Amino acid sequence: MMEDLKQNLFSTIDKINEHVIGIRHDLHAHPELSGHEEHTKYLVKGILEASGYLIKESDKHFGLIADLRVDDNAKTIAIRADMDALPIEEQTGKPYASREEGIMHACGHDSHTAIALGTAIAMAEHQEDLPGNIRFIFQPSEESKEGGSVEMIEDGALEGVNGIFGLHAYPYLKTGEIGYKYGVMMASADIFTIEVFGKSAHGARPHEGVDAILVTAMIVNSLNHIVSRMIDPLHPAVISLGTVEGGRASNIICDHVILKGTVRTINEEVRNNIPLMMEDSIKGICKSMGATYHFDYEFGQPELINHHEMVDIIVQEAKEIIGEEHCIDLKDPVMGGEDFSEYLKIVPGAFFRLGTCNEAKKTCVSQHNSRFDVDDDALQIGMKIMGASALHFLTQKEL
Ligand SMILES: [Zn+2]
Ligand SMILES: [Zn+2]
Repeated sequence: MMEDLKQNLFSTIDKINEHVIGIRHDLHAHPELSGHEEHTKYLVKGILEASGYLIKESDKHFGLIADLRVDDNAKTIAIRADMDALPIEEQTGKPYASREEGIMHACGHDSHTAIALGTAIAMAEHQEDLPGNIRFIFQPSEESKEGGSVEMIEDGALEGVNGIFGLHAYPYLKTGEIGYKYGVMMASADIFTIEVFGKSAHGARPHEGVDAILVTAMIVNSLNHIVSRMIDPLHPAVISLGTVEGGRASNIICDHVILKGTVRTINEEVRNNIPLMMEDSIKGICKSMGATYHFDYEFGQPELINHHEMVDIIVQEAKEIIGEEHCIDLKDPVMGGEDFSEYLKIVPGAFFRLGTCNEAKKTCVSQHNSRFDVDDDALQIGMKIMGASALHFLTQKEL
């Protein structure tokens, strides 16, 4: 019976595929930055309401929660899509390229939203046959440092939810392939600011001042020794400085420098130790040089850790849809961050990568690049894997 339902769901997905591609193009042409997803929200809401979903909105942000409930005693699976774009000027030259100056769907969140919407439409068509409840979480602000998933969780997005699935468009795999990963898939992402205070003086009389630039140079050097000399090489970590700002003129000893950077790890203990090591080092250098400092460290998204059995479900279903040879075990985690990790801290779930590279369509460019685009042919695969995995989860007893 389940097999019939799955096949019916797939034929509905085939039927609505062109419509879903159209939705993706509309979203792509009208990208909105994190926290400003208003047009996107109303487009999503209209489609979901027409399909009979129960919608929960917020007055604080543009995210929404949409429910298809069939049985209060049955399990509930959640499917999450992020909706925000990036401050990048699009250069793809595609007919559906961004009409908003300086804003672009350069991470593929337009495809995530379209895939979730298509899956939602198809599920609603077979509502009476569904073995459980389905919730769609349309999330804002994935690209912001706070991460919109936290807001959605605060709004109750995971209340009554037993499991969750999410995906990300991935230009390093071909359309028709997916990438999966058991355990840790992505790094935690923290940010920091270091301010160094020295004392200004004439450039010709350095002994009368405290050179904040020289102190900064020593700090930069020492921060680069933390990963190479103080952390177990078996635990990957990254400390990267993104900006250095300071100084006023070529002949004045600088008295104030601001440094900003990011830290990525895939291990909780390493993550907690890094800010302590950083501050020890900053403190020692400043003391020896007569400078003072201010160190601000903000913990961002945690590591993304996939649930073993939930990955199994994705892989089992994907093998049937695209063939075993097209399901790629990614083996190594990446040091990028993703706020889907917040959901995974609360309920079992899995995040997978949907291949979107098609050389002929120029969709093999990396994310956050002005020429990035998603191959439309990947949408159908995304909908089928999401839909089939949701049904699988709802009928599986153990999880
Ligand atoms: Zn991104
Ligand atoms: Zn993204």
